[in-house]
Amino acid sequence: MNRHTINILKLRPALTFWLLCLIALPCSTYCAHANQQASWKAGVASIVITPDESMWMAGYAARDKPSEGKINDLHAKALALEDEHDTRLVIVTVDLLGIPRPMRDWLTEHVKESYKLGPEALLLNASHTHSGPVLREAKYSIYGNTLYGLSPEQIQQNNKYVDELQDKLLELIGKAIENMAPAKLGYTHARAGFAMNRRLKTENGIQNSPNPDGPVDHNVPVLRIDGQDGKLRAVLFGYACHNTTLSGYEFCGDYAGFAQEYIEQAHPGTTAMFMAGCGGDQNPYPRGGPNTLDYCMQHGRALANGVEAALAPRAHPVTGPIRAALDTVMLDFAPLPSRKQLEQSAKSENKYQRRHTQVLLEELEKNGKIRTTYPYLVQVVRFGDDLTMVALAGEVVVDYSLRLKSELPGQAVWVAAYSNDVFGYIPSLRVLKEGGYEAGDAMLYTDLPGPFAPSVEERIVAKVHELVDRTAVSRGK
Ligand SMILES: [Zn+2]
Repeated sequence: MNRHTINILKLRPALTFWLLCLIALPCSTYCAHANQQASWKAGVASIVITPDESMWMAGYAARDKPSEGKINDLHAKALALEDEHDTRLVIVTVDLLGIPRPMRDWLTEHVKESYKLGPEALLLNASHTHSGPVLREAKYSIYGNTLYGLSPEQIQQNNKYVDELQDKLLELIGKAIENMAPAKLGYTHARAGFAMNRRLKTENGIQNSPNPDGPVDHNVPVLRIDGQDGKLRAVLFGYACHNTTLSGYEFCGDYAGFAQEYIEQAHPGTTAMFMAGCGGDQNPYPRGGPNTLDYCMQHGRALANGVEAALAPRAHPVTGPIRAALDTVMLDFAPLPSRKQLEQSAKSENKYQRRHTQVLLEELEKNGKIRTTYPYLVQVVRFGDDLTMVALAGEVVVDYSLRLKSELPGQAVWVAAYSNDVFGYIPSLRVLKEGGYEAGDAMLYTDLPGPFAPSVEERIVAKVHELVDRTAVSRGK
């Protein structure tokens, strides 16, 4: 026996004590959580929303003909949750380019009437697939219709699709609520690596091109919903990346559609739902070319594998109560061009510049002024102290996700974008200063007047903090 062994022996009682503690503590914490969370109720519902007929497709201004068939179906899915105080939350995900604000407003009104659900309890998220139909939104927008120069018949077809979609979504929400049954919730996460920053600094400014050195958020957050019988009933997962591997003429949910499909195949009876994250400046790579459908399926597989990896460890139990808040923050646009400048750019060589200017001149004519602010929606949902979900409107760049995750309190923070109103890009101050597509150039494809003012990031982040404070759960409730 050497001196070393004697020292270890002397330490043994203390070591044993600490080992026991290490085993005992997490178990008692877990058991307490497990008992609390038995009081959840959860329900899911899913429908196909692929248009029955050929329609113009949303997302790329360059398309010159309507859709031709489909690669796979587009879906709308709803997850209804109820905590032990009977507080409800419904999350709806759709395989579409965006959520038009009028559609959000229509649903808000009708879910209140039909299901007594407040606006803060409804979270709508679009996967941002660029292989879905054009929706009615504004009269000039990459999300709306007349940007594409559609005929009156085609616009009528879009409007009919949206009217029917709204009715279907309302019914879907009702079905998810009806399906509610006792459940357990758990949060877990893993990673997927195919998203790459798409803002490359060049001599000619920022170009839309893969940038392996730019910021990314490769996290795959997962909320798992298990029935009382221990069966996995639903998986809500997120990723911060444009859903744009494809650019053809067939309807498809793109990589996010394939990921949902693969998860549901691997877990029969489970509903998989995708929530788009802050992927405004992220693209899936590789993409394009003759192999792009293969890439799309591979990215779908990579994301599904990310979700499977997240499901492998024991999830952190998520307790209630649900505390949700939804509010509007006014965002300022940068100083607007004068009428003289507008008249000048109405003669531009660029047809999108010309048409965008025309839209602004019409607004000036009609209202005597061009809007100077945008009413921006921010939603926060807190699941006790276990999970804080932030749902931001618009195409939000990745800086917001990284910043909010580092600033917000709580065990886990999940930042979704493309929620409740998808109208254009939301740059961070960094992106705004650097310039390029997401900073302001993309405004050309919307009916908004131009870039946001430099206050954009602080206004949004301050509103998120305010709502997080407002929804804090005081102990003993
Ligand atoms: Zn986009």
